[in-house]
Amino acid sequence: MNMTITSVLDTVDVSAAKGTCRFCGDGLRRTFVDLGMSPLCESYPSVADLNRGETYYPLHVYVCEKCFLVQLEQYESAENIFSDYAYFSSYSDSWLKHADNYCGSMKARLGLNEYSFVVEVASNDGYLLQYFVQRNIPVLGVEPAANVAKVAIKKGVPTLVKFFGTTLAEELAAEGRCADLVLGNNVLAQVPDLNDFVEGLKILLKPEGVLTLEFPHLQKLIEHNEFDTIYHEHFSYFSMITTVKIMEEHGLRVFDVEELRSHGGSLRVFACHADAKTHAVEASVARLIEGEEEAGLCDVSGYESFAKQVKETKLALLEFLVGAAQEDKKVAGYGAPGKSATLLHYCGIGKDLIEFTVDRNPHKQGRVLPGTHIPIFHPDRIREAKPDYVVILPWNLKDEIIQQLEYIREWGGRFVVPIPKVAVI
Ligand SMILES: [Zn+2]
Repeated sequence: MNMTITSVLDTVDVSAAKGTCRFCGDGLRRTFVDLGMSPLCESYPSVADLNRGETYYPLHVYVCEKCFLVQLEQYESAENIFSDYAYFSSYSDSWLKHADNYCGSMKARLGLNEYSFVVEVASNDGYLLQYFVQRNIPVLGVEPAANVAKVAIKKGVPTLVKFFGTTLAEELAAEGRCADLVLGNNVLAQVPDLNDFVEGLKILLKPEGVLTLEFPHLQKLIEHNEFDTIYHEHFSYFSMITTVKIMEEHGLRVFDVEELRSHGGSLRVFACHADAKTHAVEASVARLIEGEEEAGLCDVSGYESFAKQVKETKLALLEFLVGAAQEDKKVAGYGAPGKSATLLHYCGIGKDLIEFTVDRNPHKQGRVLPGTHIPIFHPDRIREAKPDYVVILPWNLKDEIIQQLEYIREWGGRFVVPIPKVAVI
């Protein structure tokens, strides 16, 4: 009997479960961090769904030893995740301001006018392109989620309901619709076929056209321990070093980069055709790459300490919550952001440790968090329940939330911020 089991185990090749790098095709052998299994983070079950099962997917992140692209393997088709995506960009005032400023500065920098053409890939509900429309600059949005694209079209932002790649880029180019400016904000991470996508961007660009891409900066994710921003909708995590390599491989040249505060620290990369006559390379590019080299991101060993710091955060958070439970303290959450799914599942925190959470978004109230089924209530619930501790799940908004909930001090309540390090305030 034992013999049989041994021989079966011998045939299980664990390495076969690992895939190849989304960019360079090298085998993925090195773990960046393994966050276990969790359900899709943007699906909030209703009470009627409580007795149904939920599908869990692995959140095992690898770093490619050849190109240093940090990535999840694809586990679910992009169509299933994004075709009816619930995220509407226009819900955030600060994000709209960011978009308006971008349009103003790009118009001035590139001299865009009524004869120019701007294409945004993953244009969402027209949150950004509307500001080019206001400035009389012709635009086209490309957005795969039909329900979101419909909102854009209603606003007067022409939008194609399609996934972007070489096929669509070639169609547009054949119609003479190449662009002076192509942009993609927070889309690069969500692209399953990265090479087809970047090649498509190149095809769509006029000879002297400019491409801008914004994405969360891997160096900041590591430095600030933002492991909960790793979730299934984000397949790839980019450093400047890797981004430049990807662009070069597709005949594009990065000529400028800006550091932004959005999403815990993002980059806005400017690129053009490698053989473009304009767009001299700015000093910002070398400066950013030097910073990453100093942080050890050009050597695979520089990626090793992340898993350790993530585990330390888990232990510290659990130690705090278990201690609070043993002392019969009441613990509530604040917020139900997508990233809370990663944090709670990885740490193994359920209703036994955080009784409920609250959220200002009425679409989430009355539902539960995916997997853990921690109920989501209206923020008034905090005042009624008088918890001893409030765990701030969208920790990036902690200052604003602490100000709003200052009244918990009336009954001696305190705030808990889980990231970058567990802090009781
Ligand atoms: Zn690679």
